[in-house]
Amino acid sequence: MSAKRDYYEVLGVAKGASQDEIKKAYRKVAMQFHPDRNPGNTEAEEKFKEAAEAYEVLSDADKRAQYDRFGHAGMGNRGGFGGGGGMNMDDIFSNFGDIFGDDIFGSFFGGGGGRGGQRRGRGTRGSNLRVKIRLNYEEIAKGANKKIKVKKYVPCNTCDGLGAKDKNAFHTCNTCGGSGQVRKVTQTFLGQMQTVTTCPNCNGEGQTITNKCTSCKGEGRQYGEEMVSLDIPAGVQEGMQLSLTGKGNAGERGGAPGDLLILIEEEQHAELQRDGLNVAFDLYISFPDAAFGTQVEVPTIDGKAKIKIPAGTQSGKIFRLKGKGFPSVNSYEKGDQLIHVNVWTPQTLTSDEKNMLEKMQNSGNFKPNPEKSEKGFFEKVRDIFS
Ligand SMILES: [Zn+2]
Ligand SMILES: [Zn+2]
Repeated sequence: MSAKRDYYEVLGVAKGASQDEIKKAYRKVAMQFHPDRNPGNTEAEEKFKEAAEAYEVLSDADKRAQYDRFGHAGMGNRGGFGGGGGMNMDDIFSNFGDIFGDDIFGSFFGGGGGRGGQRRGRGTRGSNLRVKIRLNYEEIAKGANKKIKVKKYVPCNTCDGLGAKDKNAFHTCNTCGGSGQVRKVTQTFLGQMQTVTTCPNCNGEGQTITNKCTSCKGEGRQYGEEMVSLDIPAGVQEGMQLSLTGKGNAGERGGAPGDLLILIEEEQHAELQRDGLNVAFDLYISFPDAAFGTQVEVPTIDGKAKIKIPAGTQSGKIFRLKGKGFPSVNSYEKGDQLIHVNVWTPQTLTSDEKNMLEKMQNSGNFKPNPEKSEKGFFEKVRDIFS
């Protein structure tokens, strides 16, 4: 077997490509090498599979992180891909529903999730399920294990997912003669095409059931729930999606289960604000504290930290707590905590205080000296984020 090409190269995207870019690139490549458009072309089929495998990895935050870190070597022994075998066509087509959605590409590929008549074997694959999971900053920083109850289709326990009373209840479908496929000519925006589609009588299974299981009415599955344990890696971000293979809805009549897709949501923190890997905190100190210097306690994503405020600290100063930010989900990098100092100016004064301040008003020490002050706002932002 020849060496595997880089997944980013396969899809023609940059290393830092967004999920959207990856999805778009995959659509393009999948369209180009789709078997319906390249009948009998094994080279196109290989390219098609290669792209599907690349997409399977790069579209999944977890797998992508693994791949970015270890390359193809990190992909061994994982379900569905790696190990040389690659993906089978069945897996590829069953994922199309998610990628192509209900748009024109979905119907181009023959509808029904774009299976294009390639599906064989018993049962229908279960659909994917999406759940949202809300994490606070601490959980994101450390990674979290969450147990959630997922309401979904589970295999029928009366018939073990078969859908039939017994094994003799299966008969060859007489619409397709057991192949599970029928041919038809369709008009598409690319012109007339002959497509092979799933047999409507047996749903591509090649078999029909005469004696259905009464508990599940022949579906082989029933609505129920399952406790699923989620291992969320540290450093995830709002909007990221992780997928758990095979934890979605059970398939019909023994078909493969769908995946469970986990959408990450970030819970806002009362005092801290995330900015990528960094976390920002607005600190307010009194004028005397700024003048004399002091020690203050600040919240971090990992408990409290003490910081020293030197005498003569100006408003606008930014202190940096190195490594106190978020870990990166796909490297060993860690962000910092930035502490932005605000010196509080009193808004009401007693007459005593007024008298004291009036005495200082004309002292040269109280005159602003921009040369000795903090750098300009824009300069500072450039420093920190460059
Ligand atoms: Zn049943
Ligand atoms: Zn049939």
